[in-house]
Amino acid sequence: MESETTYQLLDGKQTSADIKAELAVEVEKIKAAGGSIPHLAAILVGDDGASHTYVNAKVKACELIGFKSSLYRFDASVTEEELLKKIEELNNDPDLHGFIVQLPLPDHIDEQKIIEAVAPEKDVDGFHPENIGKMALDLPTFVSATPYGIMQLLERYKIDTVGKHCVIIGRSHIVGLPMSILMGKKKNPGNCTVTLCHSRTANIKDFTLDADIIIVALGSAEFLTGDMVKEGVVVIDVGITRVEDNSKKSGYRLVGDVKFDEVAAKSSYITPVPGGVGPMTIASLLMNTLTAAKRGS
Ligand code: NAP
Repeated sequence: MESETTYQLLDGKQTSADIKAELAVEVEKIKAAGGSIPHLAAILVGDDGASHTYVNAKVKACELIGFKSSLYRFDASVTEEELLKKIEELNNDPDLHGFIVQLPLPDHIDEQKIIEAVAPEKDVDGFHPENIGKMALDLPTFVSATPYGIMQLLERYKIDTVGKHCVIIGRSHIVGLPMSILMGKKKNPGNCTVTLCHSRTANIKDFTLDADIIIVALGSAEFLTGDMVKEGVVVIDVGITRVEDNSKKSGYRLVGDVKFDEVAAKSSYITPVPGGVGPMTIASLLMNTLTAAKRGS
């Protein structure tokens, strides 16, 4: 008889709902103690559809759990100077615990300059060099929301990572690079032997075929196929690509970096897209905001 692999979904939607329920309880405790309600703000520039969707989801999540939220919208023609002025204002707002600047920004704005302008103690996205450095050195900080969400998912599903070979595809500063540091840490989840792959990696399949855990974050729809993975692998799909689909009201559907059916058939655990890493990113942002509020920044 042919063996059938059954996989378990790493359900980011459910896990993020659990985290949000826990955070709502924390908010009630803060209220009862007369403390200040966590307050998250977002700066949104231009009219990129995906950015609007992400920011709206973040605002909605704040409302759901009782956080305060503020949204500052700017036209795509905003100058770097105007944005820096707003950031300075938010850095100095005593009523605000954390804020994010939704990326990407228009080409005429220096993204790195903007990231570095955010006060590290309010950088709940964890993008500031000071926070990335602290994360690498295991010091208290804000871990970038997407990697933090993935670590939460692995922890809450009690995935055994110790001594495993973890292959990460993509080395961006916001996903792949921090993931490679976190998975290699002397911690649980962590304690993996890590391979970081990127666009210049030769024979990527040699690495993925040996991997116990694969974290795919390159932004190429259905890149990881069934023939690239071994039986029992744990797969985390970070990718989100909008693919034209006229059967949908929106005219598109969201596709991950993993060819789901093929890879799931060989996996022990796998995240879906949508409903995997995406909701976990939002939950982590909220967790970081609560931490900022508790620090009293
Ligand atoms: P990014 O900044 O565009 O980086 C992509 C990385 O993938 C780069 O390191 C690049 O290598 C590598 N890469 C590109 N093509 C490759 C190939 N053929 N083989 C191997 N590596 C390749 O991307 P990102 O910001 O990390 O985002 C990646 C994906 O995750 C996107 O789809 C994005 O929308 C999604 N995302 C989702 C969430 C979420 O919450 N679910 C959050 C953030 C991002 P080089 O360094 O050599 O160029």
